[in-house]
Amino acid sequence: MIRINKNLENLKPSATLAINEKVKELRSLKSEVFHFGFGQSPFPVHESIVNGLIENASNNKYLPSQGLEELRKTIAKYLNEFQNVQTTGDNVFIGPGSKELLYQTILILEGIFLIPKGSWVSYGPQINAKGVDYVILDTTFENNFKLTPEILNNYCIENSKDQKTLILNSPNNPTGAVYSQDELQALAKVCKAHNIIVLSDEIYSQINFSSELSPSMSNYYPEKTILFGGLSKVFSAGGYRLGYMVLPKTLSYLSLTFQSLFSETFSAVSSPVQFAAIEAYKMNHSLQSYIKKASEILSAVSKYVFDQLSKSNIKCTQPQGAFYMLIDFNQYKIQLRNLKINTSNDLSHFILERYKVALLPGSDFYFDKDDLIFRLAYVDFNGEEVLNAYDLNSNIDINFIKTHCPNVFKGVEQLKSFVQQF
Ligand code: PLP
Repeated sequence: MIRINKNLENLKPSATLAINEKVKELRSLKSEVFHFGFGQSPFPVHESIVNGLIENASNNKYLPSQGLEELRKTIAKYLNEFQNVQTTGDNVFIGPGSKELLYQTILILEGIFLIPKGSWVSYGPQINAKGVDYVILDTTFENNFKLTPEILNNYCIENSKDQKTLILNSPNNPTGAVYSQDELQALAKVCKAHNIIVLSDEIYSQINFSSELSPSMSNYYPEKTILFGGLSKVFSAGGYRLGYMVLPKTLSYLSLTFQSLFSETFSAVSSPVQFAAIEAYKMNHSLQSYIKKASEILSAVSKYVFDQLSKSNIKCTQPQGAFYMLIDFNQYKIQLRNLKINTSNDLSHFILERYKVALLPGSDFYFDKDDLIFRLAYVDFNGEEVLNAYDLNSNIDINFIKTHCPNVFKGVEQLKSFVQQF
């Protein structure tokens, strides 16, 4: 038997990727499945980015580990113009997805990591892979599972010694919540008081249904906020694997450590992809309108799902951005116990097998195992077809959903029939 790093012994494939494989397997057996488990953007990559990639396909040079200077400058300009975040290209770092950049940052930082209950699946395993544990901070349904300053402050008062890093994500996966300016300001005050480092995961920044800017923690707590973003969600280019990280000026002394670690691990992101990303962050008018339309569509689909489920007595969070909402079946706990279903994992298997709906169990998002909460991703539709249909008719009603998002329609009907038995 070969011995492996004991920090990695219990590592499992990421839950989202695992459910995707399961759905693929069922679909290959010709079983109809409504895939509410995977959060990939359904829209095609905008042609200006595709052309940028094609035109640079012959570029075979390694680029600097921090990333192409023109791209870093273009991202800084984009952040200034479209996210109201002031920075310069010197403080922008390019990596193969924000996931890798988050992991490298976690590797670099010492101390305790804080994760609000209802956060992205990969933060915890990344921290565990480094050989340390993380702390889950409590959140509640009533507050849309957003972290409150009181909870953060109480934890810090009781645990005042070690350096702390909070991972905050808005717009949020899995809840769909967007933190308001006031909420971020109040959290920033506590972070300041306790000298907390914040990893602000803003990968869904432009997917905000209020058509306002998603506020960035870096505006309220610039001194210790490291911001993360990338091509995957806003530009529908997850497979391009390009993300960025912005260090605040006050932490620029960490730049050399980051660049060194990058150069010793991934070297630099693929050069054609970096050139293509310049086209993305230039945000020409057509790209701006594409992002706006995609957000309007996601907003309307989320509203449809939320209204239908709520009317059928399924408790769910009302999405304000991203691709997700949380749904809560705790009110059926006693009836489900009679069916020998005790955990969210049990119930996700039951719903997939009996109702052909793939949902991710809340236990993957730091909820207790017996808390019957699930993440529903409402992006199981053909984004290209829906964009074309939306151009002809921007009224996304039940008929639109039935015709152009049939899996969303049928999946919702299946969930309604699941609860009708109780
Ligand atoms: N952060 C959140 C909250 C996500 O949902 C994802 C992807 O699912 C990522 C980060 C990673 O994105 P990428 O590595 O594609 O930039």
